[in-house]
Amino acid sequence: MDRGLKHRARKRFGQHFLHDRGVIERIVAAIDPRSGDRLVEIGPGLGALTLPLLERAGRLEVIEIDRDVIPPLLERCRGHGELIVHVQDVLGTDFAALAAGGPPLRVCGNLPYNISTPLLFHLLGTSSSIRDMHFMLQKEVVDRMVAPPGGKDYGRLTVMLAASCRCERLFRVGTGAFSPPPKVDSAVVRIVPLAAPPFPLADRARYASVVAAAFSMRRKTLRNSLRGVVGEEAFDAAGIDARRRAETLRPDEFAALAASPAPRPAV
Ligand code: SAM
Repeated sequence: MDRGLKHRARKRFGQHFLHDRGVIERIVAAIDPRSGDRLVEIGPGLGALTLPLLERAGRLEVIEIDRDVIPPLLERCRGHGELIVHVQDVLGTDFAALAAGGPPLRVCGNLPYNISTPLLFHLLGTSSSIRDMHFMLQKEVVDRMVAPPGGKDYGRLTVMLAASCRCERLFRVGTGAFSPPPKVDSAVVRIVPLAAPPFPLADRARYASVVAAAFSMRRKTLRNSLRGVVGEEAFDAAGIDARRRAETLRPDEFAALAASPAPRPAV
């Protein structure tokens, strides 16, 4: 916290306020806000990112759950541009409605880590309303988002994101950049939604259920983890050896398995 702003950080809202000027400048430079952008910041807190973003874009919408930070936030940003505040839970925010009638949104924020994975899925559900996203997240989550197949970080999150966006890890941020410092390192990631999946994908819901089942037992062979979800003939049709394990399959291979319907239950 700087500039004498008084607010006790709330753990339940994942409040770790950025105070490192160098990190703040790098994040703003990565976003590169331009006048005319529909910029939306999630969790502005006391405005560490909000103020420089507002100065660059001239207009900014923010979504914040903690009403107690709003007075100091407004005070800090007064006279620097048009700030529109939505005091609400971002997980209940309708981003398609927010974007209606304008260009796709540019969403950003130093996210509360306790909701980061459900929030990513929530945002990707309306990704046609979003041009890009820049988030500070727990480093482990970013490692999982960008992991190549074959390692321990590659999993359900990686494979689900691969069907709808491109993720790029930008830089790592140490715990000392925040007040209070979190327990783990962070990283900044750029996420760009894709207009269409980068591989043939007929049924997203089926893809999601195959991926979830495969990674629920990641040490087992696919024949075992996908029993009742994917039949033997689907492995043959996709040309995939059922003795492989989930973490060795590329996203397009999961899509190929998901192209066959679920086997009929035995009677
Ligand atoms: N952007 C500020 C900064 O970088 O210093 C604060 C970042 S802090 C890690 C996360 C912010 O998200 C806090 O302001 C917190 O109150 C807010 N927040 C937590 N849960 C939220 C939710 N469900 N919806 C909207 N905002 C939330």
